[in-house]
Amino acid sequence: MKEMLIRLQQEADKDLAACASEDDIFAVKVRYLGRKEGRITMLLRELGKIPQEERPAVGKLANEIKENLEQRVAQAQSTIHEKRKRDYLAQEKTDVTLPGRKARRGGLHPVTLVLDEVIEIFLTMGFEAVEGPEAELDWYNFGSLNFPNEHPARDMHDTFYLGKEMLLRTHTSPVQIRTMEKQAPPVRIVAPGKVYRCDSDISHTPMFHQLEGLMVEEGISFSDLKGVLTHFLHRVFGEETPIRFRPSFFPFTEPSAEVDIRCAVCRGKGCRVCSQSGWLEILGSGMVHPEVLRIVKYDPEQVSGFAFGMGIERIAMLKFGIDDIRLFYENDQRFLEQFQ
Ligand SMILES: [Zn+2]
Repeated sequence: MKEMLIRLQQEADKDLAACASEDDIFAVKVRYLGRKEGRITMLLRELGKIPQEERPAVGKLANEIKENLEQRVAQAQSTIHEKRKRDYLAQEKTDVTLPGRKARRGGLHPVTLVLDEVIEIFLTMGFEAVEGPEAELDWYNFGSLNFPNEHPARDMHDTFYLGKEMLLRTHTSPVQIRTMEKQAPPVRIVAPGKVYRCDSDISHTPMFHQLEGLMVEEGISFSDLKGVLTHFLHRVFGEETPIRFRPSFFPFTEPSAEVDIRCAVCRGKGCRVCSQSGWLEILGSGMVHPEVLRIVKYDPEQVSGFAFGMGIERIAMLKFGIDDIRLFYENDQRFLEQFQ
């Protein structure tokens, strides 16, 4: 019995030494120490068959071998577990000498770039930038700006209505009225912001940006309007760019003028971009209508002023040579990255 025990121990040692994985160790544990069929367990069951006087010594030896094997199995398990952890960490280690991954740098949207540039030019001329609500009352968007009730701009096809009295502003002009209501002349403001019209094609998006300007004080004449807008357009499109003022009509200005710059594509010869005219319409302007001044309780006999408005996307398209306004709002990185 003693010899069998010692032989069993030697075999168990050999098997344990040959283990390469946690599964192997577990198999050894089951083979020798398993509760049902384990070889040591089974041998211990035979203890009753040996002579009484030998039993204590053999029993003691058997328990020692059993405990000893249990300990070594546990140790082997923990060793192999540690080794696996070390191997894993060695594989996972960071090579600090590798070049870093570059963070992608963002850039401003082309519309924001142009808007910032345009605002800056007017700030240097002493204008102040103010903002107003995009969800606007019908009164501020149309009524107070001298739009007759049957004016086509009020048509449902152009305006997004938010109920009976409210709408999404179709231009930034309501900010003129809101400013003059709060402030006595002199007024010298630009109002940049989003406007909305129910329209979408190569040159229209349902949302676009406008910048409105207003200057009201004593003695303002049409030559002030011409001076300010000429200076502005020369700053944006270059000193040499020819400019023309063309009579037009807006309900809230009288007289009114549309302003064109010479087509940058064909240099005035006529092309597809300028519809063969050689000129590109860039902004609308005019002297503030006396009726509008009366509505905000200014005295048209005392003060006069001019107003102008422009589409920022249109300026950006001409500046950067973009032929489809919808590109601004498709969020295609290949397009946007060109403006960084
Ligand atoms: Zn042209």
